[in-house]
Amino acid sequence: MPKVRSSNIGYPRIGEKREWKKSLESYWANTTSQEELLASLKEIRLTNIQKQKDAGIDLIPVGDFSLYDHVLDTAVSFGLVPDRFEYNGGKVDLDTYFAVARGTDSAVASEMTKWYNTNYHYIVPEITQAPTTLVHNRVLELYNEAKAELDIETKPVILGPVSFVKLSKNQTGLSEKDLIRSFVPLYAELLKELEASHVAWVQVDEPFLNGEVTEADLDLLQEVYAQLDVAAPKVNLLLQTYFEAVDDYEAIVNLPVQGIGLDFVHDEGKSLQQVAKYGLPSGKILAAGIIDGRNIWKADLQEVKHIVDQLSVLVGEGQLILQPSCSLLHVPVTVSLEEELPEFLKAGISFADEKLEELVALADVANDVRDEEILEASAEAVRSLNESSSRNNEDVRALLEEIGDSVPTRAVEATERLRLQQEKYQFPLLPTTTIGSFPQTKEVRQKRLKWRKGELESAQYEQFIRDEIDKWIKIQEDLDIDVLVHGEFERTDMVEFFGEKLAGFQFTKFGWVQSYGSRCVKPPVIYGDVAFIEPMTVKETAYAQRQTNRPVKGMLTGPVTIFNWSFPRTDISEGQVVNQIALALRKEVEELEKEGINLIQVDEPAIREGLPLKKEKTEAYLKQSVEAFRLSTITVQPETQIHTHMCYSDFEAIIESIDALDADVISIETSRSHGELISAFEDFTYNKGIGLGVYDIHSPRVPAQEEIDRNISRALSVLDPTLFWINPDCGLKTRKEKETVEALRVMVAAAKQAREQL
Ligand code: GLN
Ligand code: ZN
Repeated sequence: MPKVRSSNIGYPRIGEKREWKKSLESYWANTTSQEELLASLKEIRLTNIQKQKDAGIDLIPVGDFSLYDHVLDTAVSFGLVPDRFEYNGGKVDLDTYFAVARGTDSAVASEMTKWYNTNYHYIVPEITQAPTTLVHNRVLELYNEAKAELDIETKPVILGPVSFVKLSKNQTGLSEKDLIRSFVPLYAELLKELEASHVAWVQVDEPFLNGEVTEADLDLLQEVYAQLDVAAPKVNLLLQTYFEAVDDYEAIVNLPVQGIGLDFVHDEGKSLQQVAKYGLPSGKILAAGIIDGRNIWKADLQEVKHIVDQLSVLVGEGQLILQPSCSLLHVPVTVSLEEELPEFLKAGISFADEKLEELVALADVANDVRDEEILEASAEAVRSLNESSSRNNEDVRALLEEIGDSVPTRAVEATERLRLQQEKYQFPLLPTTTIGSFPQTKEVRQKRLKWRKGELESAQYEQFIRDEIDKWIKIQEDLDIDVLVHGEFERTDMVEFFGEKLAGFQFTKFGWVQSYGSRCVKPPVIYGDVAFIEPMTVKETAYAQRQTNRPVKGMLTGPVTIFNWSFPRTDISEGQVVNQIALALRKEVEELEKEGINLIQVDEPAIREGLPLKKEKTEAYLKQSVEAFRLSTITVQPETQIHTHMCYSDFEAIIESIDALDADVISIETSRSHGELISAFEDFTYNKGIGLGVYDIHSPRVPAQEEIDRNISRALSVLDPTLFWINPDCGLKTRKEKETVEALRVMVAAAKQAREQL
């Protein structure tokens, strides 16, 4: 056996050119049969395995591939299908599986939520009773498939029982602990079957270990894994963690499992210190996640080799496995297809396939089968990217230095600002507005596509955008909305639009990652110093303002959201990158103000999702986020009203930071949260404007006025009516024109009625 082996935790499902997405969607659209779907997915799955084999990876995962989501896969393997779907036991069929994920005409889909602090969303299992049967040993089937079809020995990957239950909705009445215990016999059965097929290693993911873990959790882990060990003693379990260092190394490393997997990238050096301090019990395997599985930068392999060298000394011969820090699900497939990237940048990027090459190179060097010189090229690529002019913009540096550590603050405090703004605008009580976008119709998207392809002249395209703006300004005036927007027709996506206009961003052609189901996103790459080049939104916004006497609100995406939805560079700190974005946006804010746009909304829908997994890191994150937001908005006149928008409502934990943003008006989602949000504001005196979303834009249904009335009166029972705004709960981009106009009409009627009753 080699001294050091290479392994992968998970491989992207989507295929080099999103073949996976296309197969699924054409099946859902009834254009392909189930057989065709299964055949094409099988091909992708086997290709992925073969690719990893060819790359030289020793331990190749199976079971990481999914037809939708791996948490849902785990749920259905135990027959956990919510009662509202037709299911009578046995292996869950494909259409029922998709129904749980996507809903049907008669049954709503299971909820979807974020997978830890990533942009991947999983289907939340609903467990109404303790499971009784392992209805399908999916990983065994996949293991056998790889063996039969490719003659490749693989490593089944499963989601461990503790994390699985913690990720689920427990509706059983059992305590979490007892529910977890009820899964143990089924996991034992699954492992016994793998054992009977002579599976050597099983990767059991327990990612909850990277968040806040209690003593009770650790005791339960001990109990659960001891039972699994007894049940299937010949299968080696590798307990896998990711996204952070673990806090309880000593307890975890002594669990009755044969190996542990730790993150050596997002750990501030902790994992190595832990191994050095406490060692590794003899005979155990350490799977070291030394290549960043979540970001796309090439590693300086000479530097990583230092870690490998230290680990090789600390753990015994044959006990070390090198792998990515987490599943490669979170990065695109291969950079080799990117023909338009500048060479210096392409050389510095690694997607999944390139990351596997990096791992194999490190393992080969550690095993003395290849010469250390092969690591030099990566160091050189990293160096030349760092030294490129794109990363050394003197103006940006000077600007950042100028700000130093001072917390940016507006010249006049909020209450006084609001008074000045009210004096200027004379808004009625309960002013009405929207969140920014209006329907992006097929026509809008087609025109943009044609223009991008050069099939439509810029002048014509811009005229088209102006016509759309005209139309919607008129609609908003007819509806009697108080603060208008231009509608965002020129934007594809709220991050991409700005990224394309700022220095320091690069867009790839095939750099897709799965976000949820078949939906993929292509995060921009922040590779250089971010800088303002020229006005980005002024033309359309100022045009809209010229068409009406009512105020038009400018619309920008905030620095934290742009950062969180990108692949940021890592050679400088997160705070520096966020602040660079903030300073570039500040210029845009100033340009808008110069053009007479005195209401400016800076959207930050992603602040909350970037919250670190560990409590000890949240304060710094929130401080950094608040400062960046303020940096981008403080220089305006007191009369200029800064709005912000967030599309979630569980504010409890971050309400103080929301307040500290010091935005004059915040609009948030509440229509789906049944008043929970209001309680956050009840216990906290929030003295700035608040727009509570009074209807849910995620559904095409036009709300009844009574529903909106109810939402308004609930809010007014808690909030000062002079601070309260009325708006839908998010942008209207995905809605149809007719339903949008009708819903807004109802909203304005409700606002007027409420006004009269005040
Ligand atoms: N202004 C954006 C829009 O209306 C906000 C989108 C969002 O909140 N995600 O589309
Ligand atoms: Zn929103």
